[in-house]
Amino acid sequence: MSRSIRLAVIPGDGIGQEVVAQGLKVLTAVLPQDVKLETKEYDLGAKRWHATGDTLPDEELASLKNHDAILLGAIGDPSVPSGVLERGLLLKLRFAFDHFVNLRPSKLFPNTGTPLAGRPEIDFVVVREGTEGPYTGNGGSLRTGTPAEVATEVSVNTAYGVERVVRDAYERANARPRKKLTLVHKNNVLVYAGHMWKKIFDKVGAEYPEVTTDYLHVDAATIFFVTQPERFDVIVTDNLFGDILTDLAAAVTGGIGLAASGNINPTGEFPSMFEPVHGSAPDIAGTGKADPTATILSVALLLRHLGYETEAARIEAEVAADLEARDGTARSTDEIGDALAARVAG
Ligand code: ATP
Ligand code: MG
Repeated sequence: MSRSIRLAVIPGDGIGQEVVAQGLKVLTAVLPQDVKLETKEYDLGAKRWHATGDTLPDEELASLKNHDAILLGAIGDPSVPSGVLERGLLLKLRFAFDHFVNLRPSKLFPNTGTPLAGRPEIDFVVVREGTEGPYTGNGGSLRTGTPAEVATEVSVNTAYGVERVVRDAYERANARPRKKLTLVHKNNVLVYAGHMWKKIFDKVGAEYPEVTTDYLHVDAATIFFVTQPERFDVIVTDNLFGDILTDLAAAVTGGIGLAASGNINPTGEFPSMFEPVHGSAPDIAGTGKADPTATILSVALLLRHLGYETEAARIEAEVAADLEARDGTARSTDEIGDALAARVAG
């Protein structure tokens, strides 16, 4: 294992700046002394776009590639037209670095005011496909501006793309104690894509005899996320279904302030990118109200991805202990970051 980490940091907009600062604080505190951490910060996001019109210039993309991982805060501001930063920056990065696994763990943490408090332990991971489905930009508008306007947004599903994410999900399920994998799709209506997903899911499954499998339509899955979340271990799903399901998962398991994610290129050919699920939250930016825990848990995912399992597990355990100890007194972004940095170091 390499004992140095070259980390690219994109703080981004709004609370992104505030939470990333706490994530770095905890990362520095948890790393053993002999691990050299080099960080390089990238000024990308709404402010940069307003100043220069740039979203993600090619030179910066090339420079980002030269890192072991990327830590992202949040990108977006209501002053930027919808889609500009999403397509020009976030999706551009995801496609360029082939982040085909979008990983979003959900755990029921203590003292979080979730509607599921007091339920048996909830601990599942959603593996969302990251480069295909309706996100490829394949579509268009015809007869624009006329009463007969037509808009298409084509969902692209390749056997190659589906198989590689399904295989990744089987690997993850096989490595967990329960070894259960659920495919979520909508193959009673989306018959072309849905049947291909199911066929590939079954084919790859033959190579993982120890993994128990299940299939749910996405609408049924939303019900079970709320009524029987303990039935899930690993879930694999399409890009758009995964987007919606993981926000729901965040809401029912402790709130958006705790939801972490990784945009992963499992081959290691490109750096993977870790970020909180939440956005830039302009409504609370600058108030110190942002909870940095989601970013700190994203740092744990980053460390695990780079092979620092002990440090990743320590962050997760200390987050749980910190939440356990919360007594309802409001703490600022900085105070939570300081408390967690002290815990992981001590
Ligand atoms: P995006 O389109 O960028 O995902 P969004 O519209 O989903 O943005 P968020 O920025 O995620 O919105 O914010 C949604 C709500 O959650 C806001 O009210 C915001 O204040 C709150 N929120 C988001 N992140 C946090 C956080 N880390 N701590 C506390 N509250 C948060
Ligand atoms: Mg959002």
